[in-house]
Amino acid sequence: MLAKLGVSYFGVRNPEHVARDLKRMAVAGCNVVLHTFSENDLRFYLETMREIVSLSKEHGFEVHLDPWGVGGVFGGEAFTQFALEHDLARQVLSDGVRAPAACPNSPRFREFMREWVGEAVKIGADVIFFDEPHFWNPQLLGRSAGPWGCRCERCQEGYRARCGAPMPLKFTSEVREFQEQSLLSFLGELAKAVHRLGAKVALCLLPEWQDPEGVVRRWAEFAALEDIDIFGTDPYWMWAGQPFSRYEFFARAVRELADEYGKEPQIWIQACKVPEGREWEVRRAVETAWRLGIRNIMAWSFLGTPYMTRVRSDRPEVVWRELSAAYLAIRGRRE
Ligand SMILES: [Zn+2]
Repeated sequence: MLAKLGVSYFGVRNPEHVARDLKRMAVAGCNVVLHTFSENDLRFYLETMREIVSLSKEHGFEVHLDPWGVGGVFGGEAFTQFALEHDLARQVLSDGVRAPAACPNSPRFREFMREWVGEAVKIGADVIFFDEPHFWNPQLLGRSAGPWGCRCERCQEGYRARCGAPMPLKFTSEVREFQEQSLLSFLGELAKAVHRLGAKVALCLLPEWQDPEGVVRRWAEFAALEDIDIFGTDPYWMWAGQPFSRYEFFARAVRELADEYGKEPQIWIQACKVPEGREWEVRRAVETAWRLGIRNIMAWSFLGTPYMTRVRSDRPEVVWRELSAAYLAIRGRRE
């Protein structure tokens, strides 16, 4: 199988510029591109996105589309309008405040996601990439404690039906389990909808640095989902202040789970927020994934992330050089 190597791409909606950038990606050894497809894109750039997808295919790329920040439920630096417009579909936090995020148990949000999927496949996505699906969690905002979601009426009812007791105000292991079951049902339903429309499904789960063994055990049910084709994670070790060995741990776990459940393993490489002097680790991460037998390797993001302030690398051009060198070395091998 030809190795799949790629990057994510966002922030540019002018097809002239996109065409030029696709050429740069190809020169760097890429044959897959992930285009973010936010609520803003869906509402205001639909035909342009169709053009961008078709341009990508003309340049020989496989195209992933990602519900970037959609509903505040998926990962991504994009705001959600859906949550603003649908008060009753919003998550309710443990302190009673409504979060700026939709509840994965809300039927109205599930309906909206099916609409998103329908449009994403219609404009040509080969793969729908479900990135970091999650409930509201203070840790994701960089805080160690704080209110969590969701305690909306629907979640409370569901919890009571499952656990036979009222949903606690504290985040317990039972709450976590209920949320995992909710996400499994949400993703299972969406993945089925994608398959019905004829595209493939990739799922990327957030690593949990505090309890790697525990999180990998809990990932099994997600990897086992019938309609998931590609299973992966994005262990951005430098961002999380973790040793490289933790990245390797998660990459190996993905490979093993994917093998066990007959999925294609995918790993995401940190090519954003890379500190000066550590750019070589990007190359090392690609080589490690390859050595572990992973043949679907993606990096966040194009050019080593030079233009999004919050996640910019210190020396993006060096990151890009390291990433390209690693990709081109793979391209030069007999696969
Ligand atoms: Zn809820």
